Amino acid sequence: MLYAYRVRMKLEEARRLNPYGCFDVVVAGGGTAGAVAAIAAARNGVKTLLVEQFGFLGGSGSAALVVPMMPNHVGGMPLVRGISREIQQRLLEMGCAAIDKNGNEGWFNPEALKFVLEEMVLEAGGRILYFTFVEDVIMDGDELRGIVIANKSGRQAVFSKIVVDSTGDGDVAALAGVPFESGRKEDGVSQPMSLRFMVGNVNIEKLAVFLVENDSRSYVDPPLIEFAMVPGGGWPLEKYFNEGVEEGILEDSDMAYFQAFSVPGMPGVIAFNCPRIIGNFKGFNADHLTEAAIQGRRRISRLFKFLRKKIPGFENSYLAMTAQMVGVRESRRIIGEYVLSAQDYFNAKKFEDAVSRNRYPIDIHLPTSHLPGERKLGPEEYHEIPFRSLIPLRVENLIVACRALSASFEAHAAVRIQPNMRAIGQAAGVAAALCVKKGVRPRQLDGKELRETLIQQGAYL
Ligand SMILES: Cc1cc2nc3c(=O)[nH]c(=O)nc-3n(C[C@H](O)[C@H](O)[C@H](O)COP(=O)(O)OP(=O)(O)OC[C@H]3O[C@@H](n4cnc5c(N)ncnc54)[C@H](O)[C@@H]3O)c2cc1C
Repeated sequence: MLYAYRVRMKLEEARRLNPYGCFDVVVAGGGTAGAVAAIAAARNGVKTLLVEQFGFLGGSGSAALVVPMMPNHVGGMPLVRGISREIQQRLLEMGCAAIDKNGNEGWFNPEALKFVLEEMVLEAGGRILYFTFVEDVIMDGDELRGIVIANKSGRQAVFSKIVVDSTGDGDVAALAGVPFESGRKEDGVSQPMSLRFMVGNVNIEKLAVFLVENDSRSYVDPPLIEFAMVPGGGWPLEKYFNEGVEEGILEDSDMAYFQAFSVPGMPGVIAFNCPRIIGNFKGFNADHLTEAAIQGRRRISRLFKFLRKKIPGFENSYLAMTAQMVGVRESRRIIGEYVLSAQDYFNAKKFEDAVSRNRYPIDIHLPTSHLPGERKLGPEEYHEIPFRSLIPLRVENLIVACRALSASFEAHAAVRIQPNMRAIGQAAGVAAALCVKKGVRPRQLDGKELRETLIQQGAYL
């Protein structure tokens, strides 16, 4: 489904607002990609402001409790390096990350992530503005000149040479009039949301014994544990869920998707990648988000009862936390200079202006979605994401570095994982700094030069 709307504040009007300041680069949204974008821009010597609606950084990785990062490897080595690996290294030093037996370096602690990202932005010389919502854009024709923010201090104008939209939902891009799509082509249905949660005081040893004896598909290497159940897929735990439904503890739809992980640095805690929210909800609709949060908490209360009653190790557990942020897998996808496609994925396509490398599969959580010619990439294969997928049509001085990048529904389902978001965040920060220094627009920036600069700064491209 194609959307476009324009709610633009003109430059003259913005000049009448209280000014917050003038910056080289403003990053809207301090989440997975945005925090990294701010670190990268500030390290490259430009005056950088990071604006975030919550009082901490990390976005989906902290506020939505999305742990761990999914593996994105070739030959046992991560395809995404650079700042992402620095983050993991710092978390490891705090005892708040782990590397599993399969070589996945992506296990992390969502609370520790807040501390690490904040220090890294500040150390780089970036400025952070928390508790602040980006609510409008400042336009001069098709030139984006900044954003309008709202917070306890009121409504203020932030002027900037380059804006990086890392809101996850492409809020800045949509406000500026960038065309976007949402959902799959045939019916506009988006990937389902989830409201994630964490349970404490789990007897991990007892759970591990139960999983080894009853769930051949689980990953058990205490303290690292992963287990899952998807109905109809032959998952060993399904019989326990069926009992839960028969006994009236669970509703049928609570079973739609279930996945759980241990959390480094939080002994006895298990984090859940569920419950799935049923309905075609959009991450850019406040009513949908509200309904998802309410539906999610109702499902969590049933799932928690089920765990305590049916899964050994959970008998004395407590509900530690439900996520502050509803987990949104897919909402807006901007139309950019290049729309990454499923064919690019299947053909393991490479680009001169590549900013990230991916071999994570096309992961669509809608049971009715099927891809013609579907295949997973081989162990040594990967495809790339071009910088042009971060450059929106129609609007100048804007880089979209978040899951709202320009990709088809299917390609998006592969690249949306956190390692790629961190990589495109780093690329956007470096690109924004290069634009400021050279006095060019992002659309005019030489993608090959950007790639070379990223390689010099630790990216694997
Ligand atoms: C349920 C679920 C499970 C997932 N599982 C995995 C997984 O296991 N592993 C994995 O690697 N990936 C997983 N993903 C994907 C991945 O977590 C996300 O795609 C990725 O983190 C998105 O990063 P982002 O930077 O685009 O957005 P986010 O990390 O969500 O950051 C957006 C930031 O912008 C802020 N913001 C938004 N709007 C505004 C505004 N108007 N003003 C100010 N601030 C604003 C938000 O508060 C947030 O901090 C999952 C996603 C979901 C939803």
